[in-house]
Amino acid sequence: MVNTYEVESSEQEMIRKSVRSLCERFPEDYWRELDERDAYPTAFVQALTEEGWLSVLIPEEYGGAGLGMKEAGIILEEINRSGGNSGACHAQMYTMGAVLRHGNEEQKQRFLPKIASGELRLQAFGITEPTAGSDTTSIETFAEKKGDKYVVNGQKIWTSRAEHSDLMLLLARTTPRDQVKKKTDGLSLFLLDMKDQADRIDIRPIDAMINHATTEVFFDNAEIPVENLIGEEGKGFRYVLSGMNAERILIASESVGDGLYFVDRSVQYANERVVFNRQIGQNQGVQFPISKAYMDIQAAKLMRDNAAEMFDAGINCGAEANMAKYLASEATWRAANAAMDTYGGYGFAKEYNIERKFREARLFIVAPISNNLVVSFVGQHVLGLPRSY
Ligand SMILES: Cc1cc2nc3c(=O)[nH]c(=O)nc-3n(C[C@H](O)[C@H](O)[C@H](O)COP(=O)(O)OP(=O)(O)OC[C@H]3O[C@@H](n4cnc5c(N)ncnc54)[C@H](O)[C@@H]3O)c2cc1C
Repeated sequence: MVNTYEVESSEQEMIRKSVRSLCERFPEDYWRELDERDAYPTAFVQALTEEGWLSVLIPEEYGGAGLGMKEAGIILEEINRSGGNSGACHAQMYTMGAVLRHGNEEQKQRFLPKIASGELRLQAFGITEPTAGSDTTSIETFAEKKGDKYVVNGQKIWTSRAEHSDLMLLLARTTPRDQVKKKTDGLSLFLLDMKDQADRIDIRPIDAMINHATTEVFFDNAEIPVENLIGEEGKGFRYVLSGMNAERILIASESVGDGLYFVDRSVQYANERVVFNRQIGQNQGVQFPISKAYMDIQAAKLMRDNAAEMFDAGINCGAEANMAKYLASEATWRAANAAMDTYGGYGFAKEYNIERKFREARLFIVAPISNNLVVSFVGQHVLGLPRSY
């Protein structure tokens, strides 16, 4: 493992070491075998839950560890650096932020302790729709209020882990787009009990490039009691935005973990592999891309740390969270390609795991928000350039 020179508190160091040691029980063969079967890492998620790593962001009064974004980032970074894939479980960590920040006390008492213990899985986050794509305010899934419940009809796509979750955090229109002043109004956020509504929800797995348990979800008069509306009706879009900063910092952490995985493996292989009677790492054509990717990843990590510290201090970190996700995903993609080049033909052999991580690392350039949209956000909102779309 290459050195990464963290400036961390003793508690943060302890978290890093503990998660690293948990991950050693789930070596790369474990992940490769699941990938081949497109199967969910149930044993791994259970181990993380039992050791309390998925509830660190939940305050102590609701059964969690009450830690911050930096600590949560360290956990996910270590999982991905070990060769694992946090995508199986990361949502359990941060999706509850909508309840924590915008829910009422009754909802916090009802949901958070059970999410903290793992009794309730809140792993599904339904925003993206086939037609709207990145233009979230154009979503069409509609929740119509009828007495003491909302009745939901519509469709989501790319709803990951829906089959491995009890609840879904759902964004739906409650007022048609042509009847609101601002297109960001009239959207509402709900906690949908998917087990209770199983006969009104159709979940169809998507055969995807990576093992991510991602699905399409169809709602046919699915019911949500009014008590499960988060915050005020019509204000869901702003609640989702506030949660996105947390998501982006954590995704940046996973991506940093992937990047360091590629650097670790590349350095090891470039030192071991001898061709033309010398280690391939002696060739600058092999060495330089690895060194450059390492520097880029270290820089992205600093932006991630900065965003995490701002988040924990309650400072608006929209720009930093987005930039961290962008920088980490791009740096890691360079590291992924450097690893493929270093491994030569063996990069393509599944038993070396590089090709699996290569596929997994590519996701973060596209999701949870595509890097084009991050660049345009920085251009418009940080630099004051004209809106491009
Ligand atoms: C494996 C996986 C898991 C996912 N999990 C979830 C999940 O759990 N929950 C969920 O809600 N969503 C999830 N998503 C969806 C993900 O957030 C979206 O795929 C992503 O936001 C991009 O939306 P889109 O695919 O509709 O692309 P589109 O919006 O159709 O964009 C296509 C391309 O056009 C570009 N583009 C579009 N508009 C502009 C513009 N104005 N300027 C410049 N470029 C533009 C984009 O950058 C992109 O490259 C997941 C996706 C994947 C692949």
